[in-house]
Amino acid sequence: MADNGKSFLIDTTKCFACRACQVACKQWNGLPAEKQVPHNRGTYENPPDLSYSQWVLVHFMEAERPDGSLAWNFVRNSCRHCVDAPCKQAAKYKDSITIDEQTGAVLFTEKTKRESYRKIREACPFDVPRKGPDGRLYKCRMCVDRVHNGELPACVKACPSGALLFGDRDEMLAVAERRLAAIRGQYPDATVLDRRDVRLLILLGDRESLYKLRAG
Ligand code: SF4
Ligand code: SF4
Repeated sequence: MADNGKSFLIDTTKCFACRACQVACKQWNGLPAEKQVPHNRGTYENPPDLSYSQWVLVHFMEAERPDGSLAWNFVRNSCRHCVDAPCKQAAKYKDSITIDEQTGAVLFTEKTKRESYRKIREACPFDVPRKGPDGRLYKCRMCVDRVHNGELPACVKACPSGALLFGDRDEMLAVAERRLAAIRGQYPDATVLDRRDVRLLILLGDRESLYKLRAG
């Protein structure tokens, strides 16, 4: 792989839940709208879950901090592009899930139709893979077509607040460290999740229990 590949950095302290990233993902990848009719679930979060045509979803969570103050936190959910991807390890055929040489992106191919959906979904620690009506499995592709041509992933390009960054993995890890040091006074519980294991680095301002990190 070229150097250490690429990574996303999500800085949740800058995210205001506009969901431009959700829309840009759908637009660039030509993903159809959800068929389910939206209804009031007591949250602005919509749709309620990832799907074969929903590869990015911004989760909302309201919770009380230990000091009694209210937390209203947002975090973008999608494939983490794991460094040693458990979904790939669980695959029966080595060419159904591949690793992009240039970026390290984990890619589901047409050949995922031959895999056990249950096995691949259960292997994912983040409950990301979804099966399409055509029988193949789907999730975020890191916009490798754009990245190979020197462009940012569509979601990163669309983010108006600077909450989404993308670049060389070593650089993103360094940016995350600098950001943690800079915000420590305002956000004493700030942390970066699973930084050694994933290419979607998530920087949380509050403690992890105050975010909804997956559907359900
Ligand atoms: S988050 Fe899940 S689907 Fe994505 S690479 Fe990791 S194991 Fe595979
Ligand atoms: S586009 Fe940026 S600010 Fe808007 S929801 Fe996505 S990450 Fe948050």
